Amino acid sequence: MDYLPVFLRLTGEAAVVVGGGRVAARKVEWLLEAGARVAVMAPQLAPALTQRVARGELEHIAGPFTPARLPGAAAIIAASDDRAVNELVSRTARERGIPVNVVDSPGLSSFIFPAIIDRSPIVVAVSSAGASPMLARRVRAQIEALLPARLGALARFLGARRAAVKRAVAPEARHRFWERLIHGRAAGEVLVGAEAAAAATFARELRTPGDARGEVYLIGAGPGDPDLLTLRALQLLQQADVILYDRLVPDAILERARRDAERVFVGKESGDHAGQSRINELLVSLARAGRRVARLKGGDGYIFGRGGEEIEALARAAIPYRVVPGITAALGAAAAADIPLTHRRLAHSVTLVSGHAAAEDSLDWRALARAHQTVVFYMAVAQLPRIVARLRAAGAAGDLPAAIVERATLPTQRVLRSPLASVAALAAREQVTAPALLIVGEVTALAPAAVPEPAGLPGNPAPGDCVTIGAVA
Ligand code: SAH
Repeated sequence: MDYLPVFLRLTGEAAVVVGGGRVAARKVEWLLEAGARVAVMAPQLAPALTQRVARGELEHIAGPFTPARLPGAAAIIAASDDRAVNELVSRTARERGIPVNVVDSPGLSSFIFPAIIDRSPIVVAVSSAGASPMLARRVRAQIEALLPARLGALARFLGARRAAVKRAVAPEARHRFWERLIHGRAAGEVLVGAEAAAAATFARELRTPGDARGEVYLIGAGPGDPDLLTLRALQLLQQADVILYDRLVPDAILERARRDAERVFVGKESGDHAGQSRINELLVSLARAGRRVARLKGGDGYIFGRGGEEIEALARAAIPYRVVPGITAALGAAAAADIPLTHRRLAHSVTLVSGHAAAEDSLDWRALARAHQTVVFYMAVAQLPRIVARLRAAGAAGDLPAAIVERATLPTQRVLRSPLASVAALAAREQVTAPALLIVGEVTALAPAAVPEPAGLPGNPAPGDCVTIGAVA
């Protein structure tokens, strides 16, 4: 470890910045943020600094840096554009035992600035020891995405209750109590902004500490690409003790869950009603045992995901639950295959249809066959010939454009485009397998953008990974 990370208390302390330009101005802001009394030593000041001097927020020691004019300080930052001056500041500070940072010169610095995430009072600092500040900033962005926006509020909430916990909970039980609290319902409530509810939950748990209640998170996992999880999905996956997942959830997503969480595969063949009631019972019994259960579903739980039935079962059993929406397959496929589902000229509505319903014939085919709309069939692979026949019988033209998107957003994604009349034959020839969507409507014929994708965008399958297959003759 090249640097020991520590947090410096500067409230009310003197700090000196040498240099009056834009870089100096940024450092001044940090120091003021930390509550320091800041003096800037420079012949001239950038406008931002002049304004602060005028407002009395900082002192200007006009003129060039000389060791003799350097006042005592808890920290010094050299941000001048003159290397000789920076070296002199560094030497002087070291001689006097004052911590010094020289901007962009780790060799001249006794401390360096990390990239920070400020959810005060929680602060995360990331450093590359000067090797690559850019990379450190990227790591910061990745961590930032993991941390709930209201993390600071949670820290304050817990901080305000330390004394109460100390009074009410015996020392040997305290660790466990905090642990449960931080992972538990009250914390979850603070994180979604429900502080009043959180205070009530906390009060109840304090009265009956051993009596932690479990809960269920119904989480939409998106179409498969782990980067398409929502931030809240990720946060709850980090909290859950048990994860119930099904077939559509790839390993890459499970890997984002808490390492020590128990994983239970509850994949079932479609239409397996007994399977569904077993899952409902499992959710209820795990939560009753005090576990926090993540029910992870492909796409969105409320779109052909039977989320409604699970929520009913939980409500009947009075188990608290939270629902996190996911990117449904139609949206993932549309984005990944360049198919705008609605379009000012071509499609004024979009309908999501269960392919199973096609088999049961409970659909209004005339409505689905009308022009100026997009229809997306889920669970359609086995039903393709029947769907096509019904649409055509209801008036859809044989040359109406259609597309099949197989394994949308996954590295093995394929997009097959074809007129409606031949789409089933194309799928058979190309041996399309589930999961795949059939999208019907003019929008599927819009040429995929010929422009290259932006470089380095995480998660988008590289263009070479998406196979696009044209119509069969
Ligand atoms: N709740 C899910 C849908 C579950 S039904 C959602 O909101 O997306 C299962 C069907 O979803 C599959 O048969 C397939 O039609 C579709 N599907 C799910 N993931 C898919 C993917 N990555 N690519 C294409 N279709 C997908």
